[in-house]
Amino acid sequence: MQPPLIVLPKPQTLFQQRAARFRELAKAHASLSDYLNLMAELADCQHTLAKNFLDTLFPVAYSKSPVDISNWQPDSVWREALHLIVEHFKPEDGPLALIRNRIHQAKDDELETWADWLLTGEVESLDPGLAPFLGTALQTYWVSLAARLDVEKIRPPEIAYVCPVCGSLPVASVLQTGGSIQGLRYLCCGLCATEWNRTRIDCIHCATSKGMAYFGVEGKGDVVKAEACSECNIYIKLMNREKMFNLDPCADDLATLSLDMLMAEEGYQRLGFNLCLIAV
Ligand SMILES: [Zn+2]
Ligand SMILES: [Zn+2]
Repeated sequence: MQPPLIVLPKPQTLFQQRAARFRELAKAHASLSDYLNLMAELADCQHTLAKNFLDTLFPVAYSKSPVDISNWQPDSVWREALHLIVEHFKPEDGPLALIRNRIHQAKDDELETWADWLLTGEVESLDPGLAPFLGTALQTYWVSLAARLDVEKIRPPEIAYVCPVCGSLPVASVLQTGGSIQGLRYLCCGLCATEWNRTRIDCIHCATSKGMAYFGVEGKGDVVKAEACSECNIYIKLMNREKMFNLDPCADDLATLSLDMLMAEEGYQRLGFNLCLIAV
């Protein structure tokens, strides 16, 4: 059986599995547990939204294909998704209440500017506290759109490391396990969660196979490594499903921030970023 070139996301299970993985990671990472548990709750909201809300808003045959971020016309659906997500959090005060109020009080065009900054990675002016909420709302929206596309009609990416569905950068790459995809590398979109196959040996950024090196943080296991290229100085996280079957690229990325710190010290730049975290 030929391995698939492109695998579209499955919103029915994606966020539920992500929430479970966040909770598992929160138990194992005491210092990050508050943040990872918050992300688990946000993934619960994403699951509820994808199941109950977005299905009713997009016509069944909705196919604005490809759903590219570069020509996205913001609509009210993602803003509604964002408001529903923040409404889930009802603290009396504290940082979460401030963020919730800020989002509720923001005008539509302000929300759209924030979304635009986040999608394009130009986040210098964006309050880092907003990212988990904006990021999860945008993910839910895009996953829901991507899942409606006909995979046969999607062309392979023109630039190998750019998502063929939405034009975002990958959050990580995953070595798959089982069946026709055993041992193959797929890049995972940080926005729409589409996965696409990419040859394993060469640098996914500049395609050289000359100076590849693998980095890991001592004592943190070998599920997630950084694959770095000395030619272009770029790294991406490489996650191994053989070592952890239920890993989730978005969740496992946020639980391995020490690896990003190590790579920054080593002088490498990351390809892509996680929409739910703005590093300060
Ligand atoms: Zn995508
Ligand atoms: Zn390279």
